[in-house]
Amino acid sequence: MLGMGGIWYAGSGSAPNTADTQARSQTASLEQRMRVLEQTIGRLQLLNQALWELLRERAKLTDRQLEEKALEIDLRDGVQDGRMTAMAVECPVCHRVSSSRHSRCLYCDVEFEKPIMG
Ligand SMILES: [Zn+2]
Repeated sequence: MLGMGGIWYAGSGSAPNTADTQARSQTASLEQRMRVLEQTIGRLQLLNQALWELLRERAKLTDRQLEEKALEIDLRDGVQDGRMTAMAVECPVCHRVSSSRHSRCLYCDVEFEKPIMG
């Protein structure tokens, strides 16, 4: 009886333990991925700052010019949301498709007008 009780106890206890172990493993995996992403973002921020400071010093650009360019790029997808969302843009001249990440046609180099981008 004690032996069977022990088996049953172990049997009923092992299922939740397995689920719990899986959940912990998934959490650990997500935390690891988040740490990698945070490291990557931190590195990108650092390089972005270094690039901007070099440009500001050597090309004599201003913070205002940077902000204006960021706004222009932000608006290329038609939405001011603080980020880039690429969308297909048909060139009005050669009718081939470029990404809205670009301000010019990749094929014929024509500069896109704002309404075409939005
Ligand atoms: Zn074109």
